[in-house]
Amino acid sequence: MKKALAVFLMLTMIFVLAACGSDKTSGGGDKGFVGIAMPTKSSERWVHDGENMVKEFKALGYKTDLQYAEDVVENQVSQIENMITKGVNVLVIASIDGEALTDVLAKANDQGIKVIAYDRLIKNSKYVSYYATFDNFKVGVQQGTYIEEKLGLNDGKGPFNIELFAGSPDDNNAYFFFDGAMSVLKPYIESGKLVVKSGQTKFEQAATLRWDGATAQARMDNLLSAKYASDRVDAVLSPYDGISIGIISSLKGVGYGSASQPLPIITGQDAELASVKSIIAGEQTQTVFKDTRELAKKAVEMADAVLKGKKAEVNDTKTYDNGVKVVPSYLLEPVSVDIENYKSTLVDSGYYTEKELK
Ligand code: BGC
Repeated sequence: MKKALAVFLMLTMIFVLAACGSDKTSGGGDKGFVGIAMPTKSSERWVHDGENMVKEFKALGYKTDLQYAEDVVENQVSQIENMITKGVNVLVIASIDGEALTDVLAKANDQGIKVIAYDRLIKNSKYVSYYATFDNFKVGVQQGTYIEEKLGLNDGKGPFNIELFAGSPDDNNAYFFFDGAMSVLKPYIESGKLVVKSGQTKFEQAATLRWDGATAQARMDNLLSAKYASDRVDAVLSPYDGISIGIISSLKGVGYGSASQPLPIITGQDAELASVKSIIAGEQTQTVFKDTRELAKKAVEMADAVLKGKKAEVNDTKTYDNGVKVVPSYLLEPVSVDIENYKSTLVDSGYYTEKELK
């Protein structure tokens, strides 16, 4: 009797452990098995991306293994290695460091596993079949244009003070965002209508490793105390909502955000919940909405096509040279969002409910 109970308990334990261990693997999977490697859960957008892809893949009959590496490059590499060992048929990867996957993708190729780059380009590998993303240069143009219009630079107003932030130097997108924004802002910097008091106008000076909000906040603290003790900053170019939130904390810490000292114009990206709420509260000024539901669909279509030996739909075969090849891409359209249009873009499209934004 005791022995039977022990066996029963042991089996129950094994069952519970197995259930816990496999909670990221889902779907029946008779069509095939897909490994989805995402960078981090600390930013909401990647959580939505992952969930949306799992849903779309399941609907087509695929099994999925979804993993997040919490922005640690080595974790992502070993997660991909595990997926290869588990026998996935295709990999969809949003890389942390776009240059760190060359070896692991060669291993995937040895097993006949095809790779789709998700939102971020994977560099230095010929084993990337397709790239699903947004028009990343345009994201930057939208941020720069927003600042241009709100300050009235195109009407000849100025000079205004601005500080510039860029994304992570190991993410190819960060350069596209910065270059896009600078394509609008640079002429005004050159004419003196925009003044960067810190003098930090180069990508390397403005970059924020791993897109970390706290890193950006610390840099903004330094800029404010070194350059703005008796001057006002009128605009801040921020490439991503998490960075914008850090910048806003820093600004509030030295008294911005009151009637006598309003916050500067602050851009962003991803329409994350905290930032949309911040826009509604009159703090962050703008964000760029990239519909992760559409991106997930595109990546799933690409994976489905490569598994069936078919060609996937692309709309760009020139822009994304990864150092070894130009990766055929599909670029979706980003949308600039502020207080005027957040309802029509985010609520009417069902991305958020009114209640979530309260
Ligand atoms: C994505 C952005 C995101 C950033 C930080 C970029 O690669 O394209 O949407 O804001 O990473 O996660």
